[in-house]
Amino acid sequence: MVTTSQVYRSTRSSDKATKTFEEAVIQGLASDGGLFIPPTIPQVSHETLFNKWSKLSFQELAFEIMRLYVDPQEIPDADLKELINRSYSTFRSDEVTPLVKNITGDKENLHILELFHGPTYAFKDVALQFVGNLFEYFLQRTNKDLPEGQKKQITVVGATSGDTGSAAIYGLRGKKDVSVFILYPTGRISPIQEEQMTTVPDKNVQTLSVKGTFDNCQDIVKAIFGDKEFNSKHNVGAVNSINWARILAQITYYFYSYFKATNGTEGRVKFVVPSGNFGDILAGFFAKKMGLPVEKLVIATNENDILDRFLKSGTYERSDKVAVTLSPAMDILISSNFERLLWFLARDYLASNDDLKAGKIVNDWFQQLKTEGKFQVDSVAIKGALSDFASERVSDSETSATIKKMYQESVNPKKYVLDPHTAVGVCAAERLIAADKDSSINYISLSTAHPAKFADAVNKALSSFEGYSFEKDVLPAELKKLSTLQKKLKFVERPDVELVKAAIEEELAKMDL
Ligand SMILES: *Cc1c(COP(=O)(O)O)cnc(C)c1O
Repeated sequence: MVTTSQVYRSTRSSDKATKTFEEAVIQGLASDGGLFIPPTIPQVSHETLFNKWSKLSFQELAFEIMRLYVDPQEIPDADLKELINRSYSTFRSDEVTPLVKNITGDKENLHILELFHGPTYAFKDVALQFVGNLFEYFLQRTNKDLPEGQKKQITVVGATSGDTGSAAIYGLRGKKDVSVFILYPTGRISPIQEEQMTTVPDKNVQTLSVKGTFDNCQDIVKAIFGDKEFNSKHNVGAVNSINWARILAQITYYFYSYFKATNGTEGRVKFVVPSGNFGDILAGFFAKKMGLPVEKLVIATNENDILDRFLKSGTYERSDKVAVTLSPAMDILISSNFERLLWFLARDYLASNDDLKAGKIVNDWFQQLKTEGKFQVDSVAIKGALSDFASERVSDSETSATIKKMYQESVNPKKYVLDPHTAVGVCAAERLIAADKDSSINYISLSTAHPAKFADAVNKALSSFEGYSFEKDVLPAELKKLSTLQKKLKFVERPDVELVKAAIEEELAKMDL
C-alpha cells in the first residue's frame, strides 16, 4: 500500500475517498463529472523562493515544483527528472519559455512570456510534451509484468478546431502502447494547422478529416466516449484540457518568468493571461497560492467573456452562442477548468475550509448550471476571487489594433509580431499600465502562440505596412517546409459515429501496436 502525502479529490465529491496522482492523471475526469484537484496546496517559503528557486533552470524548477505534487513513491526523483528533461528537450529555446523584457522600452515594464517554442508553436506544448511522456511512463510500468496480449493499450480520441489536436499529436507520437486519433472538420482549420497534424509519420498517429463542422466532430467524440462496448474494447482515453497533469506542468513558467522579470528578487508582478478554458491562468493561481508573491492574475478574454462577466457580477452564465473571433482558441461558452477555482472559492470562503462541504456546493452549482443555464455565487466568494484575479474583455478590433501598435512601437526587438491570442493579453496589459500609472509594477503578458499559426489575422492587421512580408518576417522555415511533406489523413465522408468507429478500428488493426 502506497501512502501518499499528496492526494487528489473530485471537485464535486462530498465523500472522503481520494485518488493518487497516477489515478487522477490516467482517469482524467472524475466519475461524478468533477475535475481532480489537490485540496492541499504545498507552501514554499520566501527563503526557498529567493535563495534557491530563483537561481534554477526551467527544468530544475519544474522538478522542484512537481516533486511537491507527486509523491516520490509514485515517481522516484531520477524518473521524474528524466521525464522532465526529455519533455523539454523538444523545445527550440534553451530557456524553454523565454521572457522578452521591456518590449516597449523601460517606461512600461511590459514583458512578453513566449510559451510557443515547443514542437507545434503553441503554449499547449508546455503541458502536452510532458503529459505524453507521463502517459507512456505509467503504461509501461503497468505493462511490465503483464504477459503479451494482456498489456494495457490506450486509444486517445479527440476533436480539434486547431491547436489542441496538433499539440496532442506531438505529445503522443511514437509513444508505446498509445494510439491517437484526432478528428477535424474538413476544410475548416487553417492550412498550417492541417499540415502540422497530417505530416506526422509515426504509425500510432492518425488524423481523421470529417466532412462536417467542429461541433459534429465533438459530438462524435462524445458518443464514442459514451459507447461502453467500444470503450472497453479499445480503452478510449482523452488528453483534453481538464487533465490535472497539464495544469501542473504549466505552474513552472509562472515562477520562472517572475524571477526573470525581477532579477531573482521579490518584486511587484502582474500576470496577464489570454484565457479560454482557464487552464493556463489556473496554473498561475497555484503558483500564487504556493507563495509566489504575485500581485494580480489578470484574465484577458475575447468577446466570449463568461469569465469577465462572472468576476463583475458573481453570476456564471452560459451564453447561447459562441462568438467567432480572431482568437479562435479562446472561443468557448464554458471555461472547463474554472470549476477548479470555484472549488477553492467554495472551500475557502463558503465552507469553513471543509473539503467535503465544498464538493457539495460545487455539485449544486453545476446542477443549477445544467437546469437553469446559470448559477450565482455569494459575494464573499467573489470578493475572495478579486483578491487574486482581475479581468478584461477585448474586442476583435482592439486585438487587431494591438497587433499593429506593437509592430510599430516595439523597441526590443523591433517590429515584434503578436499572434491574435497574445494580442488580447497585451491589449489588456496596456489598459492596466495606463490605469495603474505605477512604474514599479512588472507586467508579464503571456504569449500563447507563434504568429505564423494565425496568418489571416496577422496579415489583416499588418499587410498595409510598407516592407511587411509574412513569408520573410513571420513564417519560420520549419513551418514553411511542412507544405512539402507527405500528408497522412483519412477522409470520413459523413459526420457519422459508426463511420468514425469503423475508420478507427481499420487503422488500429494496421498500426499493430
Ligand atoms: C488554448 C489556448 C489559449 C487558451 O488557454 P486556456 O488554458 O484554455 O485558457 C490561448 N491561446 C492559444 C493560442 C491557445 O491554444
